[in-house]
Amino acid sequence: MELRQFDSTDYQIPVIGQGTWYIDAGDRALAIAALRRGIDLGMNHIDTAEMYGDAEKIVGEAIAGRRDEVFLVSKVLPENASHAGTIQACERSLAGLDTDWLDCYLLHWRGSYPLEETFEAFEELKDAGKILSWGVSNFDAPDLEEAWELAGEGGLVCNQVLYHLQERAIEHAVLPWCEEHGVAVVGYAPFGHGSFPGPDTPGGRVLQEIAAAHNVTPRQVALRFLVRRPSLFTIPKASRPDHTAENAGAGELRLTEAELARIDRAFPLGPRPHTLPVL
Ligand code: NAP
Repeated sequence: MELRQFDSTDYQIPVIGQGTWYIDAGDRALAIAALRRGIDLGMNHIDTAEMYGDAEKIVGEAIAGRRDEVFLVSKVLPENASHAGTIQACERSLAGLDTDWLDCYLLHWRGSYPLEETFEAFEELKDAGKILSWGVSNFDAPDLEEAWELAGEGGLVCNQVLYHLQERAIEHAVLPWCEEHGVAVVGYAPFGHGSFPGPDTPGGRVLQEIAAAHNVTPRQVALRFLVRRPSLFTIPKASRPDHTAENAGAGELRLTEAELARIDRAFPLGPRPHTLPVL
């Protein structure tokens, strides 16, 4: 599995991690087995959130006895992101995950509480050793600019945003901004949250042809395209061990410039939307 520096932190984390939204919707034992298989295969960046129902508890079970191997991320909901609410939400997540610390803690999206309040709470949690770093999610470039001004030295380390082949809007402004400021970009929903291009679509056929040339799968090709720049990470969610194994297989794949250009043409960027697309 290819590792990359996570922004300005000391962490080296895998380019392909594991998401957990709706991981509590199916067979619990299978979901735990999937996460464990993912860790075994180097996908030790695990993303969860207080919003994801029982997911934090499932993650807690999956990482029991191997907490040190995992780069664990959770998120506070905007409606809880007051100063006191953020601290309480973090405590709840730590309890649910059965851990003493988070490697990174994110504001899930921007809400009505002033960013200063949330960020002050993040810094207090950091000073207390309950989180080791913090970041944001679903922030467009103007929000990032504001957050950056407030965050101060060593603050904001990542922005988690929607990024898949059919939704590349972050490439207009968010990705360039993050690259200029050294902020890691964690792309979520790399398979379009369940709407991956099928083999009978023009784009799907391009993925199939490139996959066949490397003896890999179209999903592995897609994941590799989504981490083609050094600032990028991705977090597919899989609740079956065979799916996690397939996703982990993208961690060593390399595509040629010509192949990347072909995918770029098959799934064009499109015009910049007025607001940043989110799920
Ligand atoms: P996704 O990863 O794009 O797609 C998940 C779907 O893909 C599931 O149905 C899963 O099926 C399927 N899948 C995964 N690997 C597969 C494989 N190798 N072969 C066939 N199917 C496969 O969607 P997502 O869960 O929305 O996004 C990923 C993660 O990003 C989330 O889980 C969450 O952690 C994070 N996220 C963050 C935000 C935010 O606002 N910050 C928003 C959305 C998502 P199975 O479950 O059956 O394996």
